[in-house]
Amino acid sequence: MMTGAQYRASLDDGRSIFFEGERVKDLPGHPILGPAVDVVARCYDRFHSTAPDAESPLMSVARSAAELKARLPLLHEADLVAHVTYQSIMTLTTAANRVGDARYAERVHAYVAGIQARDLRVTECITDAKGDRSLPPGKQADPDAYTRVVERRPDGVVVRGAKLHISGACLGHELMVIPTKSMKPGEEPYAIACAVPVSAPGVKIVNTSYAPRHADTRDFPISARNSCPEGFVILDDVFVPAERVFLDGEVQHAGVFAHALGLWERLGGLSFLAEEADQLVGFAQLIAEANGLAGVGHIREKISEMIIHATLVRAALEAAISNCGFGADGAAYPDELYTNAGKYQGAANYNQMVRHLHDIAGGSVLTAPAIADLENSEVGALVRKYMAGASGVDGAYRMRLFHAIRDLTADAYGGWKFVTNIQAGGGLYAQRIVTRKHYDLDGAKKKALRAAGLLDEKP
Ligand SMILES: Cc1cc2nc3c(=O)[nH]c(=O)nc-3n(C[C@H](O)[C@H](O)[C@H](O)COP(=O)(O)OP(=O)(O)OC[C@H]3O[C@@H](n4cnc5c(N)ncnc54)[C@H](O)[C@@H]3O)c2cc1C
Repeated sequence: MMTGAQYRASLDDGRSIFFEGERVKDLPGHPILGPAVDVVARCYDRFHSTAPDAESPLMSVARSAAELKARLPLLHEADLVAHVTYQSIMTLTTAANRVGDARYAERVHAYVAGIQARDLRVTECITDAKGDRSLPPGKQADPDAYTRVVERRPDGVVVRGAKLHISGACLGHELMVIPTKSMKPGEEPYAIACAVPVSAPGVKIVNTSYAPRHADTRDFPISARNSCPEGFVILDDVFVPAERVFLDGEVQHAGVFAHALGLWERLGGLSFLAEEADQLVGFAQLIAEANGLAGVGHIREKISEMIIHATLVRAALEAAISNCGFGADGAAYPDELYTNAGKYQGAANYNQMVRHLHDIAGGSVLTAPAIADLENSEVGALVRKYMAGASGVDGAYRMRLFHAIRDLTADAYGGWKFVTNIQAGGGLYAQRIVTRKHYDLDGAKKKALRAAGLLDEKP
């Protein structure tokens, strides 16, 4: 297994990384991207073992509901890149099972075993540039709007396209490239799934980041520990050797990869939404107590509503895991219906949770002075005095709560969360489609007919 120091050194592999118009030569030393490298490195150290054949507990394939469940708290301790690595491993394993082509399955299993043994990080590259959304890949003005094979060689393929919004792409070692959707006959070049090293010639990653840009990160207690850049990944005629190709032209299987990723990405999203919902309840209760309003009727009602939401999101997560299914190789995967419905419900109501929190907390969410102001000899004591809340609640403590709430819900990181909760895992629309597909609609119709006394009647 790698240590944090070895991970940092591994990033010096000639990769082409860009940030705000500049080529990044020293990723760990970069003022905005560097702290995100630190987060990943700390996770390597946190799970490191010196045992000779040790394997990261984050990367193994779960084989029971209990194992699936036991993985969640570990993933919450882990950084986002470790999390998407786990999801990538599970996506490839699930898809290989479902495609059922022995040649591809063998390549996937060999690739996954190599990643686990070398303790590498893999990011999920599914979302294409997509050009005009109303047109299929082959009808786009620019045929590269969807990632495609542009050349076949005896020993592999050459791939061209771009994968957008890829979380942590510049921080990983490998890119799992898979089709963004189902493909039809005639779209064979677009039915490509493969693994590409970040350092492969032709890979260029342009980054964005919501990391705090302030020298004093005490006012950003959450985003300073959680920043992870998003990568605009350009595949500019990248050669992929045959052993790294997991689908090539079989249009009937292209959707399998997207669906498998959707399942694991949404399970991850659902488990984060369950954690975050509890956090939001906790912040609402803490700030209500600090404001001296925890006993007031309308505040208690809002917090009760938040508790009900948090409990139902967690219930969906529990149901997704306890109703898990199994692939031919014994790998456990979460239930589609509960995963998609739960992720949808958690994401669609996230803004309502934040609305309640902001309503309860008050305007200091945005206007609390900086923590550094407490240290100013002229105003520090006065800021502390006037920021004090309920009897016994120190002004500095209350300020720190406000900064955490602002950072989590009302600043750059909070904005990132708002959009991510809606879009990550394919957007709310995708979750509605999959939920409907797996819901027993005929069973529901039968129940309605029985209730109406129409069960044996002809329509
Ligand atoms: C912070 C963040 C992190 C992300 N991380 C990753 C990642 O790691 N890997 C990855 O691959 N992706 C990632 N995504 C991408 C995410 O999955 C997409 O944003 C999402 O699938 C929507 O795609 P889009 O952004 O291209 O929007 P669009 O596809 O343009 O969708 C915009 C709206 O149009 C609708 N729409 C689009 N096409 C059609 C159509 N043909 N017919 C009807 N309606 C349509 C959609 O339902 C949606 O409502 C991330 C996104 C964000 C915001």
